[in-house]
Amino acid sequence: MSETTPMVRMAGVDKHFGELHVLRDINLEVPQGQVVVVLGPSGSGKSTLCRTINRLEPIDSGVIEIDGKTLPAEGKELARLRADVGMVFQSFNLFAHKTILENVTLAPLKVRRTGKAEAEKNGIALLERVGIANQRDKYPAQLSGGQQQRAAIARALAMKPKVMLFDEPTSALDPEMVNEVLDVMTGLAKEGMTMLVVTHEMGFARRAANRVVFMADGEIVEDATPDTFFTAPKSDRAKDFLGKIL
Ligand code: ADP
Ligand code: MG
Repeated sequence: MSETTPMVRMAGVDKHFGELHVLRDINLEVPQGQVVVVLGPSGSGKSTLCRTINRLEPIDSGVIEIDGKTLPAEGKELARLRADVGMVFQSFNLFAHKTILENVTLAPLKVRRTGKAEAEKNGIALLERVGIANQRDKYPAQLSGGQQQRAAIARALAMKPKVMLFDEPTSALDPEMVNEVLDVMTGLAKEGMTMLVVTHEMGFARRAANRVVFMADGEIVEDATPDTFFTAPKSDRAKDFLGKIL
């Protein structure tokens, strides 16, 4: 794809849950290497936005492309293209009955058909990168929340994704563990990973984001640099939101 093809492109995306119009004409392009922080009140559609990007949720209309390719609705092609999109959730979603290393090597072994030795070598390198290689033989429940979330990030990275989606990755953590996860994310951003991050961590948004997208009632209401968004929000919705959290 050409240099100008955005890594993520959403055009005219609409989605309903029954009567509820949860995404309204979403138009969003994320260029390669950009870090977009998505802000907005609870229920504004942030999680749904993330979930539509890798087709965990179907859309009613519009287009979603990853690196210029539309995700098919189902089938083998979907599994392969979906692997280009790494996702990290609020609740770490690790496999409880697999070790940390097994969690990280599972998808490469199954979906990418990587050999075992190579998958383990890559897996250990990723666990080193997120600072928990010494925990590799433990089970998720034996790790702290911060360590589990770092394992979840390593697991997503093991598929060599083109873009990483984070949906409130630190919201379930005890406060003293938030920074160890944000530090890993900041490192990824510096290395040039394309990222879409839903978070309430305003420090991270100011520090690491190239862009802030503010959602309310299923709409993108503002799309600005962090500096502009935090110092001169345009809409009443954003002013109201910032007034409550800052
Ligand atoms: P946010 O992540 O910004 O808090 P969500 O995307 O989770 O918002 O939800 C947006 C709206 O869609 C909310 O009103 C929520 O209750 C509703 N919603 C989310 N998931 C479902 C679902 N699976 N079925 C029905 N309604 C849903
Ligand atoms: Mg949410």
